Amino acid sequence: MATTDVDIAVIGGGIGGLTLALALRQRGLEAEVFEQADALREVGAAVAIAANGSRILQRLGLGDELAAASVVPTSLQYRHWRSGAVVAEHPVGEAYARRFGAPFWGIHRASLQRTLSEAWGVERLHLGRCLVGVSDRADGVVLTFRDGRTVHARTVVGADGVHSRVRRHVDDSAPVYSGTSGFRGMAPIEALPSLPSPSAVQFWMGPGGHVLHYQVGESVNYLAVLDGPRRWPHQAGLTDAGPGELIGAFAGWHGAVRDMLEAVPQSPRWGLFTLPSPLRWSRGRSVLLGDAAHAMLPHHGQGANQTIEDAAVLARCIADAGPEGYESAFGRYERLRRSRTRAVQRASWDTSPVLHLPDGPAADVRDERLRGLDGWLGWIHGHDPDRAIALPLADAHH
Ligand SMILES: Cc1cc2nc3c(=O)[nH]c(=O)nc-3n(C[C@H](O)[C@H](O)[C@H](O)COP(=O)(O)OP(=O)(O)OC[C@H]3O[C@@H](n4cnc5c(N)ncnc54)[C@H](O)[C@@H]3O)c2cc1C
Repeated sequence: MATTDVDIAVIGGGIGGLTLALALRQRGLEAEVFEQADALREVGAAVAIAANGSRILQRLGLGDELAAASVVPTSLQYRHWRSGAVVAEHPVGEAYARRFGAPFWGIHRASLQRTLSEAWGVERLHLGRCLVGVSDRADGVVLTFRDGRTVHARTVVGADGVHSRVRRHVDDSAPVYSGTSGFRGMAPIEALPSLPSPSAVQFWMGPGGHVLHYQVGESVNYLAVLDGPRRWPHQAGLTDAGPGELIGAFAGWHGAVRDMLEAVPQSPRWGLFTLPSPLRWSRGRSVLLGDAAHAMLPHHGQGANQTIEDAAVLARCIADAGPEGYESAFGRYERLRRSRTRAVQRASWDTSPVLHLPDGPAADVRDERLRGLDGWLGWIHGHDPDRAIALPLADAHH
């Protein structure tokens, strides 16, 4: 059994782990990234990166490459489930980038992952290394991997996702099923002649469900969300769905929605889970980042964006505190990040029932609010962690 010494060990080579590693390097610190998979592959098709994420990726020098691989949506539209009428619309494109100081990108997850991992390189990326145990030492942690090897690290960052192994060492909280689930798909635009404005980000809202879609490359990526089932059969996110389950649930919806859902084979059904804020984000020399700390529902498209914000803030806190100051760095990071990520988590949780209202007075009030959405979303997309870190804490979260 070999033991190696490293300064900063990052568990997880996903969006969070790689962004953190790059942000640390930009501040003159090197990390070692340990990823359980034998090759970096992203599950799921696409991701929407809003200005609060893209401004950080631009600062890491990845802006041109990511912009070239992305589609910038023309607008954000909310539509009535049956008639297809636009109930609210807000420009995205140039107007959005001017307003928030950074662009909105729809991108293949594989392209984002590739850009991050190529920027990081292979030298400090350790594939096929599944963490199975963490134990504290006075001067760090001992990490045990499934292959039997151990690593002694001065500190460990758990960027290992919603079912984080590092979190089990830090806190015993577990993800909770939201009572909603979704189907995902990526349909070629040429197969969707009935779809109005395929290059807009669109929410179709109706009783008991909604469909979100946006363009990625020459395709439209969709997430169709439904209330139920009341219980999810297991802790993991995916389960097989019966034939026709998806299209059956959207019977009566506008033809463009049904055409899109039928354009590609039905996906498995994803249980949508959220992680009630753990009591603590760090313990001794171990700290959590991204979904490991605050997995959230996807209705504000913010899981990856909040993870990218975490990475920028944690890198800054570690660099400011110096090599002996990990514990104070983690305290500062948590104070800067906890209430913001909780607010976005809560907003994502509250959004689903609002999008699923039946026609009637409550839906009318919602539609009116959506027409004023510009100001509503500003607190999420306009956030700049570099600016927030310089402010007194009470002002830092908006
Ligand atoms: C349906 C759906 C749609 C979404 N759409 C969006 C969107 O449009 N915009 C957005 O911002 N977010 C979106 N998200 C959320 C986003 O995908 C996550 O928030 C984001 O990927 C979290 O990044 P992460 O690095 O924390 O975790 P992950 O991306 O889950 O990465 C964790 C990594 O750790 C590795 N790992 C796990 N355990 C171990 C171990 N024991 N040892 C070593 N390695 C390990 C995993 O293999 C993985 O590579 C969506 C999520 C879902 C479910």
